[in-house]
Amino acid sequence: AAKRKTVRDYIRTIPDFPHKGIMFRDVTTLFADARGFRIAIDQLLDPYAGTRIDKVVGLEARGFILGGAIAHQLGVGFVPIRKKGKLPGAVHSQDYKLEYGEATVEIHTDALQPGERVLVVDDLLATGGTAEAGIRLLEKLGAEIAGCAFIIDLPDLGGRARLEAMGIELHALCD
Ligand code: 5GP
Repeated sequence: AAKRKTVRDYIRTIPDFPHKGIMFRDVTTLFADARGFRIAIDQLLDPYAGTRIDKVVGLEARGFILGGAIAHQLGVGFVPIRKKGKLPGAVHSQDYKLEYGEATVEIHTDALQPGERVLVVDDLLATGGTAEAGIRLLEKLGAEIAGCAFIIDLPDLGGRARLEAMGIELHALCD
């Protein structure tokens, strides 16, 4: 019998995107497949069975696709962390470093109540800069981080070590 595909098998690698020398891990092929998307959502949630989660927080943009499905599955609300200038209400902002230059992420100041337990979701963990900036915003609101869930961890880029050093529990479906 043919071996059933795993989450990893649905991910496509595109060389030289967005710059020469970068191997881009493309999850659109995972999201587009009915079974692939379902097993990814199920596996992202699996470590949190029995854990209290009050809200799901998604990091723009692929974290919105995953986070929406996870929030629906858990029966809880969804909160976006967006790139600068996209959220219409009052925001907290957090700057972070990119390979070249800086970026800023934002959250609505009234998106979460102090003490709410949140699951943070994104597609891929590289340096951890994006996730760390998101966590800083959640800390400003007094939220508790139940964990961070990723499809892919690129361990050589240090994101896992960086988040673990902050005391964050994280799970990834593949390296
Ligand atoms: P970090 O901030 O950890 O260095 O980079 C992670 C962020 O960049 C995530 O929001 C992720 O979506 C995006 N990213 C970086 N490289 C890739 C990649 O190869 N594939 C995908 N899908 N996203 C990437």
